[in-house]
Amino acid sequence: MNIQTTTVSATEIEADVVAIGIWKDEPLDGPAKEIDDAAGGVLSRMIELEEVSAERFSTSVLHGPAGVKAPLVLVVGLGSKDDVDETFSYRVGGVVSKTVGSKQREHVATYINVDVVPDAICGLINGCVGQDLYMEKKKLNEIQSVSLGFEVSTEDLTRGKVLGESIRLTRRLVNMPANDLHPESFADMIVQTGKESGFEVEVWDQERLERERCGALLAVGKASTRESRLVIMRHNGGTESDAPVAYVGKGVTFDSGGLSLKPTAGMLDMKCDMAGAATVVGTMKALAELNVKQNVIGVVGLVENMIAGNSFRLGDVLTSRSGKTIEVHNTDAEGRLVLADALDVAIENGADRLIDLATLTGACLVALGTEIVGVMSNDDDWSDQLISAANTSGESVWSLPMHKYFSEQLKSTIADVKNVGTGRWGGTITAAKFLEEFVQDVPWVHLDIAGPSFADKPAAWIDGGASGCMVRSLVQLAESL
Ligand SMILES: [Zn+2]
Repeated sequence: MNIQTTTVSATEIEADVVAIGIWKDEPLDGPAKEIDDAAGGVLSRMIELEEVSAERFSTSVLHGPAGVKAPLVLVVGLGSKDDVDETFSYRVGGVVSKTVGSKQREHVATYINVDVVPDAICGLINGCVGQDLYMEKKKLNEIQSVSLGFEVSTEDLTRGKVLGESIRLTRRLVNMPANDLHPESFADMIVQTGKESGFEVEVWDQERLERERCGALLAVGKASTRESRLVIMRHNGGTESDAPVAYVGKGVTFDSGGLSLKPTAGMLDMKCDMAGAATVVGTMKALAELNVKQNVIGVVGLVENMIAGNSFRLGDVLTSRSGKTIEVHNTDAEGRLVLADALDVAIENGADRLIDLATLTGACLVALGTEIVGVMSNDDDWSDQLISAANTSGESVWSLPMHKYFSEQLKSTIADVKNVGTGRWGGTITAAKFLEEFVQDVPWVHLDIAGPSFADKPAAWIDGGASGCMVRSLVQLAESL
């Protein structure tokens, strides 16, 4: 998508669609008033007749209004001015793009100014692409060119484009089915992205993983015909002596549950079980392209959790890379096994602060619903920094208590730790407590993104499927350090 600014007015611009916004209970102003005046008050009359609504994200189209060069005017209801939060700018951009993208259109000019311009650009870039990757006649169509009819700094324009494309990459990876996206092809795509965006990539293949004693990760991937991978990404934006921050992602490219097999309904969306890793990749792309002055490493463990005669079993004891032994009580609690080794690699690479992201537990949806990321940590200051970055980015997160009671549930009779708690209650926290066993004393935040990373249904501003959540927050966090 080409995005540029324009100084041509809403009435004069030659575009397929011109988008304007109207506030609830406010008189028309700016471009909306210009169009209304040029068209002899047609917009005002339509509002009066309740054919055009100012309710938030309702959309109406004026066809060929007089005095306007564009054949179509998209009117987006913006709701009440008093009720604007950090999610608003992104969503406005998405609504314009998704509405226009429902048909094939070359050039759109939007005159809806918002507070956070880069977020609005992210929305524009992501609203018109969806999960119809393999459809001949797409439901959403890429808009070739977007003109922004308001003042935008060069910096904001670049930032919006980079973040928008990075979110798009994350979404695309998550939306890809597991027959196309498996550990090896995923690793290849990361190598390619690193080349294009300018970050270093190191890939550990099966043999290297064995040499590196990644026993927990390898056990999960063992029954797949696809080899496992671990990928280390490095963005060296800070000074050489600065310890890096590490972003660590779970990349289970398909999760059948293993011998603790998932039922069909629970397995259907399990191509999305690599969303944590995809988020890390999208974030590394953005950090490199924005040249963020911070050393950041990304570590992703890529495996496919399948079934065969050599599957890892219930009761098996695995030796993780850290040396800690793990008794397996459930082969569907596999993401934490992958992360145990990936976190160890991040620490060995000198990380002095860790964030991991994972579609880790269904229990997190029970606790927090589908919109909120669960936050668990061993360090309040570090956790506060992440929460603050997420709040600024308009991404919803909420802390869960890391009470020591939950660790007691992880005691095994044969090994150092077992991979699930007792019973099903508090499963999100016992999972985090398990990970805590592998972070030593390094400040660490675990993000359970099982809810927000993949949506069952579309919203007005974005298609269903992958959301690309937390890319903006992680970039914001790195910039704030
Ligand atoms: Zn699982």
